[in-house]
This record gives sequence, structure tokens and C-alpha cells, in this order.
Amino acid sequence: MAESNVSLKEAASVEAAGTIDIDRCRDDFPVLRREVHGKPLAFLDNAASSQMPEQVIRAYTEYHSRNHANVHRGVHLLSQEATEAMEGARETLRELINARSSKEIIFTSGATDAINLVMQSWGRTNVGEGDEILISTMEHHSNIVPWRMLCDEKGAVLKVIPVSDDGILDMEAFASMITDRTRLVGIVHVSNTLGTINPVAGITRIAHDHGVPVLVDGAQAVSHMKVDVQQIGCDFFVTSGHKMYGPTGIGILYGKQEMLEKMPPWRGGGDMILSVSFDEVLYNDLPYKFEAGTPNISGAIGMGKAAEYIKAVGYDAIHNKEQELLRYATGQLQSIEGLRIIGTAPEKSSVVSFVIDGIHPHDIGTILDLEGVAVRTGHHCTQPLMERLGLVATTRASMAMYNRREEIDQLVAALRKTIEMFR
Ligand code: PMP
Repeated sequence: MAESNVSLKEAASVEAAGTIDIDRCRDDFPVLRREVHGKPLAFLDNAASSQMPEQVIRAYTEYHSRNHANVHRGVHLLSQEATEAMEGARETLRELINARSSKEIIFTSGATDAINLVMQSWGRTNVGEGDEILISTMEHHSNIVPWRMLCDEKGAVLKVIPVSDDGILDMEAFASMITDRTRLVGIVHVSNTLGTINPVAGITRIAHDHGVPVLVDGAQAVSHMKVDVQQIGCDFFVTSGHKMYGPTGIGILYGKQEMLEKMPPWRGGGDMILSVSFDEVLYNDLPYKFEAGTPNISGAIGMGKAAEYIKAVGYDAIHNKEQELLRYATGQLQSIEGLRIIGTAPEKSSVVSFVIDGIHPHDIGTILDLEGVAVRTGHHCTQPLMERLGLVATTRASMAMYNRREEIDQLVAALRKTIEMFR
């Protein structure tokens, strides 16, 4: 497949090790140039979906304009190119999260789909009546609902690790909640609502001491921090392309090879088979056993390019930039009277959720939008967490590598205006 003619290293804004050339970085993201309601866009909704750089958009459109063909089956050149590009993306993603083998990287439609794969395949085979699934209070609905469904089907019990008022996981409670009936621990790496970074390696160690496998929901982790699945030791790890500067409709399930080998396929169809007769089906090897039907080829290519972009910028630079923005945003927001930050764990990613006395988050979000500021308002698909914190909704500003202090200032000015309007 023809390579994009812009070197990622060149265009990905690395100024020096550990810093980002912010103007060049922003230049890579065309959408950041647009205005909203006549105001410059301050895009602070990155935890919902981050924007795509030119390099990803180009790889995506190049596939559609030059190489579009179905993968794995064709002998013709376009099919071979498409296959090469998609398998190249799998290898890039393997490297990004340091999986041992690309057989351990299954393409899915996203993090939700990946968790559902584990529930349907591993869960339905390994969980029975009276067994327990252990998750936390701060899970996204996509790491709650599949397990609730499984527990209802099997007569199993869903147990929930508590969190403190600050949004910190209760590790003592966690350790004491594992029993000989625990079949799986499912834990979010980084909370989309609070920003809390959970100690997933430590959690995995404790669970493994009891022989319990661990699924880590990494949807909010990969764009912010170096993820090393071997160092974490988890059995499953899921993430989505659109939360890491890639396209929507694509994600990955990482699974340890020995786990995936033992799991039955979930969906049946083309590509996941070695041979088919009406009496018997022989399944394909990993990873294809779990990829029935024509995959999201352009999505996979785009997600691979997004991984390359992240690598070219570097996690040190991303971390430094985002932590600086987090400190700045926290300080600025705290200076607003009547504003309370929700989620104040010491280990946080660049997410700030907050409430303001007497103003509903939806009203805040609507007025901010008119000021050009894109934030998320609502329960953020974490209703049980909201209930635990005694809230129905928050306003959430979430920062990415390309955000600037000026956008936080725009947010703060718009919030002050909102408060004035409600006085
Ligand atoms: N887990 C977390 C922590 C999330 O933030 C999200 C998306 N908001 C998901 C899972 C689900 O991701 P997707 O919608 O891409 O499947």
C-alpha cells in the first residue's frame, strides 16, 4: 500500500523529548481550525471522542481511494494491499500495548464490543450459578451491563468494589471481596467520569494470587499513558480507536493467547473458519477465530495510524502536556465560587468533572456550546457511580495532547458568564 508522503515524525510535532510543539500539533488536526457559533472551537470533550490528525484521515481516505478490497481472501493486488495494511495495523497496535503476539489482538467494533466478546465467549463458558463477577463502582456501563446480563442468565452474582468520596478505589475492600467463587475481575483503567487512574497491575496481581483472571477496560488509557499489557499482567484489555485519535467503529480486544485459545468463537461466519460442511465446522486460528465476517478494514488502518501518531509524539510528551493542562484547569476551575470538582484522586488523567451550585449541567453545556466550548454533560454512562456520589449529572472537561491553556481560559470565562446569567 502506498505510504502517506508526510513523515509522521516530521508532522507529529515533537519539539524535544518530553515536549510538544503545540502549534504544529494543532496543525495536524484540521477540525481544530473551525469555529462554532462564531467562536473559536475549544474542544474539551476528548474523553467521549478525540479528534483525528491529518495522518489518520489520509490513511483512511487513501485506503478508500486506492486500495479498497476485501481482506484475506483475494489473490489480486488490491486485496493483498488491503490485507497487508490491516495486518500492519494489527502489528502496530500489538507493539503499542506490548502484547506478545499479534494473535492476541482481535479487531472489534470498539471497547464495548470487545467486552461483549469476552462475556459471550469466556463468560458463558466459565461462569455458572452462584459464581461471582467482581467489578467496581466507577465502571462505564459497557463494563457493567454485559456482566449484569451474564449474571441474570447464569444465576451468578455481580459484586461491586466501593469507591471513596474522592473517587479512589477501595483496595482493601477489593482484596477482601475475592472469594473462591470469583470468576473474573473487571476493572476500568482510567475512569471516564473522574479521571481516576486505577492501579491495574496491583489489582491483577492480587486477583491472580487467587487464580482469578482480570479484564481491564482501557478505553480511556491508551491515549494518555503507556500501556504495557505484559507488565500489567491482565488477561484481557480492551480499547477503542475513537478515543485515541482514530476512527469510530473500531477497537481491539487483547487477550492472552492461552486464554483466547481455550475460548469458543462468539460469532460465526466467513473468515473465522478453516473449513465448513453442513455437519462440521473447523475454526480458524487466532486472531481470526473471533473476527467473523468482513472486518472494518479502513477503521483498523486508521486506528493503526493513530497508534503510530501517538508513538511519534511520545508518551512522555503527552503525559507532560496533559498533566500540565490538568493542573491548570483544576486551579482555574477551583477559583470559581460554587464550583465543586468531582474526582480528586492523586493519580488522575486529564479529566475534570464538576458541578456548580444551582445550575443543571445540561444548561451549563448548552451555554458553553454557544461560547464555542465543547464539553460533556450528563451521567457519562456511569449511572451507578453518579448514584454513589449523590449526583445525577456532572459537566466534564477532558483534555487531549492538542489542547491549550487558552481553551481552559475560554471554558472558565464561559462558566463565569453562565453563573452571571443564573444569578
Ligand atoms: N469504557 C470507558 C471507560 C469509556 O469511557 C467508554 C466510552 N465512553 C467505553 C468503555 C465504551 O467505548 P465504546 O463506546 O467506544 O465502545
